[in-house]
Amino acid sequence: MHSDQFRERIRVSLANKTLQIALDANAERRVTGRIAAFASLPDWPERRQQAHAVRADMIEHLEDYLEKFISKADENGFIVHRAKDAGEAIKIVLDIMDSNASRRWKQGESDDGSRRTPVLVAKSKSMVTEEIYLNHALETAGIRVVETDLGEYIVQLRGERPSHIITPAVHLRRDDVGRLFHEKLGIPYTEDISVLTSTARSILREVFLTADVGISGVNFGIADTGGICIVSNEGNARMVTTLPPVHIALMGMERLVRSLDDLALMLSLLPRSATTQKLSVYTQLIHAPFPNQQRHLILLDNGRMQLRNSPLKESLYCIRCGACLNACPVFREIGGHGYHSVYPGPIGSVISPGLFGSDFVPLAQASSLCGACKDACPVDIDLPKLLTRVRAGQSPVTRNRSRKIQDSGLSPLGKLFMKVYSLIARNPRLFALSQKLAAFGTRLISTSSDYVWVPAFTGWGYSKDLPRFAKRPFRERFAGLRKGQVDIQVQKYTSKQVQIEVHQRNDIPIGKNALVSQFIEELAKVNGDVTRVNQSELTQGVIDFLKARDMDHIHLEPDVLDEVALQQAGIIVSHEPDPSIRIGITKAICGLADTGSVLIVDGNGNPLQASLLPQTHVAVLCTSDILPSLENALALPIVRRSRAAVVVTGPSRTADIEMSLTIGMHGPGEVHVFLVHSSESTLVDD
Ligand code: SF4
Repeated sequence: MHSDQFRERIRVSLANKTLQIALDANAERRVTGRIAAFASLPDWPERRQQAHAVRADMIEHLEDYLEKFISKADENGFIVHRAKDAGEAIKIVLDIMDSNASRRWKQGESDDGSRRTPVLVAKSKSMVTEEIYLNHALETAGIRVVETDLGEYIVQLRGERPSHIITPAVHLRRDDVGRLFHEKLGIPYTEDISVLTSTARSILREVFLTADVGISGVNFGIADTGGICIVSNEGNARMVTTLPPVHIALMGMERLVRSLDDLALMLSLLPRSATTQKLSVYTQLIHAPFPNQQRHLILLDNGRMQLRNSPLKESLYCIRCGACLNACPVFREIGGHGYHSVYPGPIGSVISPGLFGSDFVPLAQASSLCGACKDACPVDIDLPKLLTRVRAGQSPVTRNRSRKIQDSGLSPLGKLFMKVYSLIARNPRLFALSQKLAAFGTRLISTSSDYVWVPAFTGWGYSKDLPRFAKRPFRERFAGLRKGQVDIQVQKYTSKQVQIEVHQRNDIPIGKNALVSQFIEELAKVNGDVTRVNQSELTQGVIDFLKARDMDHIHLEPDVLDEVALQQAGIIVSHEPDPSIRIGITKAICGLADTGSVLIVDGNGNPLQASLLPQTHVAVLCTSDILPSLENALALPIVRRSRAAVVVTGPSRTADIEMSLTIGMHGPGEVHVFLVHSSESTLVDD
């Protein structure tokens, strides 16, 4: 993509009023929500620096950590592959399909029973698969791929690519989705988001239950344990990694952390930055395949090693939270499609040339270098510095080539301006004079407004005006300030800005009772409910709960309730997953006070499926097993020992249509915790 094409795309985006409204709404809610989410983490500045150091160490010693990770993952039963580029990754995926040709696929059985190939792939959101155009390659090979994240499903139906790395359909309004579902799915036109969501839910549920292969991305690989972590809100990633007989996870090779401690640190920052939540609804840890399941892990290079050995190395610290996109005033105007890269915004403008080639160098011009992206970044990547390096031809694709083929993305006029500016900026006297002239000049042009009109060819004026220069240059005002006379101006919040309640660290309760109260409060905030009982009242309490909902068939984890009493009450108990069962009951290994979450681990009676497939999930938790936070839960030995575990934080949810929160997407729409009073922790033996 040349600079002219990029400029044309920008003009088209700016002229699209629907897009402008959608982008403004997204950015405003994400930016204010993120500030509020970090207010509950008073030590976030320290955590941010710690996270930066953790990522820096990882990228510095990437090969060593990769070796350790691969060897552990292999021991755990993952089938690990390494792909140096997109072509290799696609070939590996197709080979996995072929090598399973004799498997009795749910969908692909041929009439004569000879050769069977998988024909249905359920896929959860993964930017790495977008990066390598995996869907296109699979479809060309005759394989049907269905995106199961609501936003991804919408853009797939439209034949588009995601326009944001976290919110794929951010460029659309509810009427766009209403028309799309009417045309493609045949439902009557509606703008009711709950109807649109439940339509997608019922279609996609059939896909989960019949898919031959599940394909997912990976948020983090853990070098110490050889496990992977996937976070999601809708529950589709859990379905895709749990139900199909073959699971293929694709992961950028840099997405590693050293240990579960490092993971806890990253997870205190990622959801807050990405979706303004303290914790995503589902934080999955997968260490091994389930019985009768194959788990493959493909580690993709695709230019990452080149980036690592370039002045843009720091870009590999990225944890793909999308906060820099939301903060960027340029992204806010042109949206993701304007960049024509799967990775848009500030981080996309840095990594796209490294991953996809020199055509993407002009993207780095789409930045005012205001620093909002750096401020928003949870791992403190110096994005403005990296953007200027791309502009200066230091990305791996341009660094070693002749200057002739370098395209800085500037027009001839822009290049001339930069030359003159560079001359002036290096001479303090000339610079001071230029500021005075600029202030004088703008006063001549406009005396009544705070903004200055400038001709459209300059790039300003499409959607923004140039603020007037101050009457006196900063250096003059600074020089005039006498020591001790500096006023600190407190910014007043406008009605649009959030009121932030900052919880001090020493306000966090530490006693057991305080942890219980905090747990109940936090669970209510994420739309979960609690019933408090004594051990002797537990089974009867659950029976009353079931009767009130007219439910008489449950998927129950063994040894959680008195099954004889349940049967006497006319309740049918099953220990096997069954999509027709409306309620699943599991033990919670522990609760997390600061997020209202419960930890469920794999075991007898398929508790992971009991907490996923039914509409309602009931978790039985002892008050003595409530821990302060995720960090404490990840330190439990049972987490390392289990094939898989999930931290559940409230019912499944989505906000993929116009950022409107809808409860109950693919996972349960109701999470109810029976909190059993107990003075002795069941975690002691672990
Ligand atoms: S560069 Fe930072 S803010 Fe942007 S997506 Fe990556 S981690 Fe998030």
